[in-house]
Amino acid sequence: MKKSIAINIAKIGQNLNITFGRPPSNNLNSIHFNDILTEWTQEFLKSTSLTTLEEQCANIKAQLKISKEHNMYRVEGEIEFSPLLECVRSLTLFREKITTQVNAFFVQDTSSAYKNSNISRYLNNSEPNDEVELSESDLETYSFSNNFIELDEFIIDSLYLALPELPLCREDCKGLCPSCGTELNEVQIEGQLIRPNHAQKCTYSSH
Ligand SMILES: [Zn+2]
Ligand SMILES: [Zn+2]
Repeated sequence: MKKSIAINIAKIGQNLNITFGRPPSNNLNSIHFNDILTEWTQEFLKSTSLTTLEEQCANIKAQLKISKEHNMYRVEGEIEFSPLLECVRSLTLFREKITTQVNAFFVQDTSSAYKNSNISRYLNNSEPNDEVELSESDLETYSFSNNFIELDEFIIDSLYLALPELPLCREDCKGLCPSCGTELNEVQIEGQLIRPNHAQKCTYSSH
């Protein structure tokens, strides 16, 4: 059995605060985890193109609250992380801080956990080009069994959904010259803005 972020529902009572990667809150009714990347989440990150290095998803911080609502548990809060992204125009690698609000229900189920999950469908998908679309409405309810709510999958779903579809290193990124491939943005070198010396190298003109 892989190590996972499992919360015993006996500890939740009416509600429970959970923090990751942040100093523990003073709230008595709270659990703190130093590291959000359990074996389970690391395996997932390696198996997708989201990231190839562990450090790319480093610095994940989260503040979540689990509260009991009738026979379900609501998990809500905020997750912050800084993935390494590739600009769709200039192919520059850049790190962007993303903060996402999350909200989901967990319902107790006697059948195996993860059965209907998006991520397990994704991982078990043998067709390499057949992408599973993740949408918010699919993510509202998770099942759990054996009195343990496992948060790993919910957290990974949340990270995945929060990634920008078309990452841009800057809003006005000029991208690459279609002829010679030179990056057309100014670049910062030791505090100096350096304009690309493009015209001398290339006769291509976009005007
Ligand atoms: Zn760019
Ligand atoms: Zn050029």
